[in-house]
Amino acid sequence: QGGVVIVGAGMAGVQTAVALREQGWTGRVTLLGAEPHQPYDRPPLSKAVLLGKAEDSAFDVDFEGLGIELRLGVEVTGLRGAERELDTEAGPVPYEVLVLATGAEPLTLPGAEGVPGVHLLRTLDDAARLRPVLAAAPAMVVVGAGWIGAEFATAAREAGCEVTVVEAADRVLAGALPAEVAAPMARWYEEAGATLLTGVRVAAVEAGRVLLTDGRALPAGAVVVGIGARPATRWLAGSQVELGPDGSVTADAYLRTTAAGVYAVGDCASFPSGRYGARLLVHHWDNALQGPRVVAANVLGGGAERVYDPVPYFWSEQFGRFVQYAGHHGDADELVWRGDPAGEAWSVCWLRDGALAALLAVGRPRDLAQGRRLIEAATPVDPARLADPAVPLKSA
Ligand code: FAD
Repeated sequence: QGGVVIVGAGMAGVQTAVALREQGWTGRVTLLGAEPHQPYDRPPLSKAVLLGKAEDSAFDVDFEGLGIELRLGVEVTGLRGAERELDTEAGPVPYEVLVLATGAEPLTLPGAEGVPGVHLLRTLDDAARLRPVLAAAPAMVVVGAGWIGAEFATAAREAGCEVTVVEAADRVLAGALPAEVAAPMARWYEEAGATLLTGVRVAAVEAGRVLLTDGRALPAGAVVVGIGARPATRWLAGSQVELGPDGSVTADAYLRTTAAGVYAVGDCASFPSGRYGARLLVHHWDNALQGPRVVAANVLGGGAERVYDPVPYFWSEQFGRFVQYAGHHGDADELVWRGDPAGEAWSVCWLRDGALAALLAVGRPRDLAQGRRLIEAATPVDPARLADPAVPLKSA
């Protein structure tokens, strides 16, 4: 009997195993992970672990005590759904119920793969390789001004490196935020002493320098590429598990996949959000915490026990600021400022049909906590009161 087999021993995989035990699953639980390390948390990799303020970020979970069979250094290479079996280098692994939690893999810069001094930041090994680089404080070029790029630039400045960030879009966080919200955040780079170049691409990476499409050459002791990630699902091609155009496993509202007895959760899976009327692919920590609880409930209940329809949430720590976001906004939503973006603390709200759909809070954790509840309850709000930072959000 295969019991529940979980592929991927990151946040979502570990939380699924723990949630199964917490919710009373007494059968076998096997957790397979490609990386050789004790399962660990990723957010500290661009923060404390990168700067050497923390040695590692291993999860504090007693796998043995919980009766979770942890098999590390085992990469799963194929799924044969009809036989309910996985392929690994160590031989086939049978399952009754399978949970896909393989996360995401960072996109690489075309032409720069394997060039010495070019780094990604996804794994503990990546962070371990970058630590001595930061300590040596060379001139660093960061490619991509997204969440990871900003966090890495923050750490590199703190380590005393000269930092230039190269962003192909015309602004920072172009995939996540509209121009008027991104504008004040771009100023943070400058304040921190980093140089931000937008609207320009990397043409080539050579030993010791980066050439840009506008002809400039930047000295680069090291290059960090933070241009996004895609679901780690290539190994599922040709299996019964349907993948979307973005490479995500297209889970249903119960986080079931198109293959019998197979669920998917975390960074590798997209799901239909009833709340937002859209399919969401969320690459954030909270999704890898909440989703597993729903998967565990559905495994125990036999399939369609609980719907997964969260208010997505994440945080980022950049340039000394605590940035938090809850919900999901679209271009058509009404944007309301709450506070002065030139100041240290402010928020932005997005309204849809008179209710709060999403909120970005900079240094205002109370706004985030209260806003999240308003979004969950879809309570109608008064835009004028919302715009007044002195009025608590819950009273808007
Ligand atoms: P992962 O953490 O990617 O884990 C998946 C695991 O599956 C990996 O260990 C991988 O090796 C393994 N695997 C993949 N394929 C196979 C296979 N075929 N066989 C076996 N094993 C396999 N989110 C926030 O909200 N706030 C933050 O501040 C924040 N900071 C971050 C900083 C960094 C540097 C990174 C990389 C991410 C950060 N995130 C943050 C995002 C958050 O860490 C992810 O959303 C979360 O880790 C997703 O968990 P997961 O288990 O789905 O995927």
